[in-house]
Amino acid sequence: MTPNIRPLVAGNWKMNGLRDALGTINEIAQSSEDSALSKIDMLLCPPATLLYVATTLCEDVPLQIGGQDCHANKSGAHTGDISADMIADCLGTQIIVGHSERRTDHGETDSEIRAKAEAAIEAGLVAIVCIGETEEERKSGKTLDVLKTQLAGSVPDNATAANTVIAYEPVWAIGTGLVPSNGDVEEAHAFIRSEMASRFNAEGEKMRLLYGGSVKPSNAAELMAIANVDGALVGGASLKSEDFLAICKATAGNLG
Ligand code: PEP
Repeated sequence: MTPNIRPLVAGNWKMNGLRDALGTINEIAQSSEDSALSKIDMLLCPPATLLYVATTLCEDVPLQIGGQDCHANKSGAHTGDISADMIADCLGTQIIVGHSERRTDHGETDSEIRAKAEAAIEAGLVAIVCIGETEEERKSGKTLDVLKTQLAGSVPDNATAANTVIAYEPVWAIGTGLVPSNGDVEEAHAFIRSEMASRFNAEGEKMRLLYGGSVKPSNAAELMAIANVDGALVGGASLKSEDFLAICKATAGNLG
């Protein structure tokens, strides 16, 4: 945790969730009013098919709803894509960009991810920019070089603490049950903080840095206690309301 930074716990549902999963969103929405969670921000990013209905379930509660990706353009001939304006129009507040599955499945480059983040910001939303090294890159000692390159390439020049969140997600930790050592998480987050602070000054000091990769109720409190970890990006465990809420409570509990 970083003193004076309000943590964010974000759930990424990926390509999971039919209409019956709206019940789970509703359960999380209702529980988000729990006073034990009042010191953190909570976000769910369901598939685009559920996004608008999900926002209607969250009208009067603190749970936010976001998108998992957007196109860099506002509109146009891009079959199958969704613009940041469309997500804003559905009352989404944040958009994940550059998730490693987008980088791998769709070959997204840092400059494309930067353009998507710019589109999210231009639409008045928060861009959650994902970065992270592969197993091979970690084993060959290139982790910090990879993070440096991804940050420089993917984070827009107009990033502020209010419009941008960085999610550090080691690719080899996503969906595998593997988690880096506390020391490795601390080192990566300290590095990201120093990169953001040297580029964006006070805004970089205040920017939220999330950890993602096999965050579970059982490890959340320990991970969230690490310096410069200002919340979590949660995949699999966000699909179950009790697990997601337990991670949120563990995060809130770290605030003392
Ligand atoms: C993710 O997809 O961003 C993620 C962190 O997944 P998981 O929590 O399942 O590892």
